[in-house]
Amino acid sequence: MESIMAELSPVLKQATPVLAARGEGVYLFDEDDRRYLDFTAGIGVTSTGHCHPRVVEAAQRQVGTLIHGQYTTVMHRPLLRLTERLGEVLPSGLDRVFYVNSGSEAVEASVRLARQATGRQNIVAFEGGFHGRTMGAGALTSSGVKIRAGLGPMMPGVAFSPFPETYRHGWSQAEAVRFALRELDQLLLTVTSPADTAAFIIEPVLGEGGYIPAPPEFLEGLRERADRHGILLIVDEVQTGVGRTGRFWGHDHAGIRPDIIITAKGLASGFPLSAIAAGQELMSKAWPGSQGGTYGGNAVAAAAALATLDVVRDENLVDNAAEQGARLKEGLRKVAAEYPVIGDVRGLGLMVGNEFTTDDGRPDTATATRAHKAAAERGLLLLTCGPHGNVVRMIPPLVVNSQQVDEAVSLWSEAVKNAVSG
Ligand code: PMP
Repeated sequence: MESIMAELSPVLKQATPVLAARGEGVYLFDEDDRRYLDFTAGIGVTSTGHCHPRVVEAAQRQVGTLIHGQYTTVMHRPLLRLTERLGEVLPSGLDRVFYVNSGSEAVEASVRLARQATGRQNIVAFEGGFHGRTMGAGALTSSGVKIRAGLGPMMPGVAFSPFPETYRHGWSQAEAVRFALRELDQLLLTVTSPADTAAFIIEPVLGEGGYIPAPPEFLEGLRERADRHGILLIVDEVQTGVGRTGRFWGHDHAGIRPDIIITAKGLASGFPLSAIAAGQELMSKAWPGSQGGTYGGNAVAAAAALATLDVVRDENLVDNAAEQGARLKEGLRKVAAEYPVIGDVRGLGLMVGNEFTTDDGRPDTATATRAHKAAAERGLLLLTCGPHGNVVRMIPPLVVNSQQVDEAVSLWSEAVKNAVSG
């Protein structure tokens, strides 16, 4: 299997190749009907679990009614209803929504809007952030050099400022926030003057960069500086949105109000749909015809998204993410207490990372890789992240229950034991 997959595509990077035949809730089944606990959820897209009956039914019904109407020219009911429903979960006043197909495209759309609305060019992104692989979104990405190395010149006008990291520096949260805000102020004095800066773009929890939550005080500091300088605050909720962190939006943990929210992944339970949301005044500054694409706001994806939002509400999945996330983190911390190679267990809700480090605090990518692989061999699918690939992350569907969380922790414990002894 491994060799067939490698032959088909040289860019695959799977710990243990799994040929997924079907999905059901938190489980994936391969062609031999072997069952896997899917704690990758397709990098968070299967928010409601694989093939949730209500999402399947909504999509099937829509396929037989209207598959697509390019909504900037032909509007359709599923998208109107979705926009209304999003209005119920978006912060008040951020109820103008624009649809595209992927996280990266939505990031690009947010940059276009920010530049159009402010007449300024530069964007400040944060070290370790991930915003996508297109040439614009990739230019804002620094979670690992592989997204950019050898590919330049990328989109110009990007400046990076430090993300407040505690574990890596051995700092308290207050120290990390103070440092990162001071560096940002310095950047605005030395590299990109506020008069040239259109926006800050930030993930409420660094995703690909290592599952590091942004302290609320940092997001508050960004909001304050954005207000002071007329800079827009773009919050990339592609990975953190739709309940993943135990609040509907990741930035809800800080209580700040972004100017633009980007959402994708969990929004449509696996159908390609993404969106940016902004206030009416800001969105009206987008130049007509300068945004959009052929498949944006696809009717089947919109119907699936509408069903997803209904399931998230009716099954209390945001609260479930908070509750099961706490249980997961507690279980993982017990495993980490037994195996000092896991130096940090962190995250918000059902977005939890296990960072592997050596005795002297260096990234231990080798052991993390072995644990990742050993978990897959035991039927637990996980992902790695962080610039060194030494953080093993767990991001199950939001429908996960206590028994499945406990099973995952137990499989993880065995996998780590195996990795440490191997
Ligand atoms: N932003 C964030 C925070 C992401 O995690 C990702 C995907 N991992 C993206 C943007 C890009 O999304 P996509 O892969 O759909 O283009």
